[in-house]
Amino acid sequence: MTHVAVVGAGVMGCAAAWALHEGGADVTVYEQFDLDNTRGSSHGRSRIFRLAYPDPAWIRFAQEAYAGWNDLDPTLLELYGLVELAPEPSLTSARALDECGIAYTLPTEIEGVAVPSGWTAVQVGDAGIVLADRARRAFLDGIEVEANTRVESLDDVDADAVVVTAGAWVGRLVDDIDVRVTRETVAYFRSDGPPLPSVVDIGAGGGHDMYALHDPLHGLKAGAHHAGPESDPDEPAEPDPAIVERIAAWVAARFPGVDPDPVEADTCVYTTTPDHDFVLERRGRVVVGSACSGHGFKFAPAVGRRIAALALQ
Ligand SMILES: Cc1cc2nc3c(=O)[nH]c(=O)nc-3n(C[C@H](O)[C@H](O)[C@H](O)COP(=O)(O)OP(=O)(O)OC[C@H]3O[C@@H](n4cnc5c(N)ncnc54)[C@H](O)[C@@H]3O)c2cc1C
Repeated sequence: MTHVAVVGAGVMGCAAAWALHEGGADVTVYEQFDLDNTRGSSHGRSRIFRLAYPDPAWIRFAQEAYAGWNDLDPTLLELYGLVELAPEPSLTSARALDECGIAYTLPTEIEGVAVPSGWTAVQVGDAGIVLADRARRAFLDGIEVEANTRVESLDDVDADAVVVTAGAWVGRLVDDIDVRVTRETVAYFRSDGPPLPSVVDIGAGGGHDMYALHDPLHGLKAGAHHAGPESDPDEPAEPDPAIVERIAAWVAARFPGVDPDPVEADTCVYTTTPDHDFVLERRGRVVVGSACSGHGFKFAPAVGRRIAALALQ
């Protein structure tokens, strides 16, 4: 039996362990902190799940992940829909959705969401949230985890293959990987009505700007994409009050039924590659899995299976 070590129990390490276990490998996961730590990128109650991307290749990757979530546990996804809002129709994912045969509508009014005048709204049903904390635990069912165990060097790891899913710490374990680490701020708002769809504002440059999604506890979670400062992951920090203020102002404008007074705020780190693509590659007995750039969580089952295929080849 192939023995594979996985370094890092964020969602990518958990998904890789699940897929390796599925593939018949003997798996050990090492995590430097305790399993429920809030130091990396995968903690919290929810993340946006969506198929909508302006590039058909990402849509197909998301569809692969969608099948994986259903294989793992369909109840980990709560599909309240997704709304893309953009000043120009060409900035939305409509063309790519057409190419992939995915249904969507172009509403002018959406319950609970204010569409800015003159903007285009694209609404997709196959979207919503993935229950983040529950997902990590589901992946690890039946798998041995050595928590509070920091791997200092991959040479010390006794295994046939070593998977490095170390998030923002990846550069400490593998050379020649070009990533930038930022500490992002999110805020939570009380929303007592029915769950709202996930919403992303697309900026004039085509990238995501502000986003919001259902939070199982408070009702709404919102954030500003790629707004945080460069950061050392070993130095925890508080949410940025200026970003919380910016998020609250956006929530007041977009969600007329939501109390714009934040009830909680948190931080989380992005590990971003120059093109926001993922690094999934084998280098000798090491498999590098760096899948973040602020949009990786939804892809975890597919990333896990690709990492497992590399580790077991
Ligand atoms: C604010 C925010 C909002 C986001 N929103 C979304 C969203 O809506 N939808 C979406 O799809 N994605 C979203 N993402 C992105 C997604 O959360 C990440 O892509 C994903 O969590 C990355 O997981 P990871 O396992 O690579 O990293 P991490 O979760 O950081 O896991 C890496 C783990 O490795 C451990 N580790 C590191 N070095 C060592 C070592 N030497 N020894 C042992 N353990 C080690 C760390 O302690 C850590 O637990 C968001 C991210 C943030 C920060």
